Amino acid sequence: MYCELPFYHFYIDGNWTKPCCDNTEIYKSTLDFNNKNLVNFRRKMLTGVKPESCSECFLKEESGVKSYREYNKQINPNPVYDHDNGVMKTKPFTFDIRLDNVCNMKCVMCGPHQSSKWLDDLDIYEEYVDPKVSYKQVKIDRLQNLDLFIDMMRDNAKLLSLLGGEPFQMKSVSTILQSLSDWNRKNTKILITTNANVKNNNPLFNILKEYDDVNFMVSIDGFNKVNDYIRYPSTWNEFLLGLDLLKKHAKIIKFNLTVSALNFPDLDNVQQLADDMNIELILNYLHEPDFLSVNSLKPELITNNEFTKTYKFNSRNNMKMKRYLSALDERRNLDSQKILKWCWI
Ligand code: SF4
Repeated sequence: MYCELPFYHFYIDGNWTKPCCDNTEIYKSTLDFNNKNLVNFRRKMLTGVKPESCSECFLKEESGVKSYREYNKQINPNPVYDHDNGVMKTKPFTFDIRLDNVCNMKCVMCGPHQSSKWLDDLDIYEEYVDPKVSYKQVKIDRLQNLDLFIDMMRDNAKLLSLLGGEPFQMKSVSTILQSLSDWNRKNTKILITTNANVKNNNPLFNILKEYDDVNFMVSIDGFNKVNDYIRYPSTWNEFLLGLDLLKKHAKIIKFNLTVSALNFPDLDNVQQLADDMNIELILNYLHEPDFLSVNSLKPELITNNEFTKTYKFNSRNNMKMKRYLSALDERRNLDSQKILKWCWI
């Protein structure tokens, strides 16, 4: 079988579930690891096909970049399941959960589903990205059934990956970590994806001290001013201070960057920083919103690498990207023409 991850991994963001974060299939969440969509997906894997929705992994592996599938191979928790129909007999061992959207930033490629701060600029999001988004609905739905999540993880989870929102701002993250058992404190690897905009007195640090294996995935989307523009209202100095603080509490820190039109020409600068700090840089493709993908950059800016194998210039999206950046510039008092020059060529 191409990938065993869907047999032990549970992705939940409260509203949705899917085989993993890199998979493009999305199902309504029922909090049931044997819900019919996940079982069908496993059955497909058991027949030996490579599901189309796994293309992110194929593309990365073909380009020699480590895929999500390969990152997770080392976990190997030996799930038990019915080989004829994909129904699980064991509970999930690894979890990717995003239970609320409380965040202190409103990144350019993000939106209200993942950041409460986007509420300030909701009119811009509705005009350019999704006119039907309902912020209030998103927020309320995702906080239901916290006890059920906790029960699934208690004395069982090998890896707990917490995303948001910003986990250092989210009460649900503290509640989950305080509610797990002594077994979890010793045996569960905690992986928190954070924007590093965090202060020493954040109460989550005290909770994390009780866990033996704490790791951070730090989101970075550019070097210095480019990061500040994209990850608004982050400032580079605060980011570096936060990074130093996280290093004191973590076993391992990695950088995570989403490659888009906003930062493609700045990738070498971030790679240099990562090399200087001896931190692994993990790159992901931006799919949504599509007008911010690399396809919105003019052909003369495109260099051949794994992110441009399927590059095709989209002039309509190039114009839309410019209108969107202008709207954000005006609202946030920024100057994308100066900071993200390549978007304006
Ligand atoms: S997208 Fe990758 S990691 Fe996810 S189920 Fe498919 S092959 Fe596995």
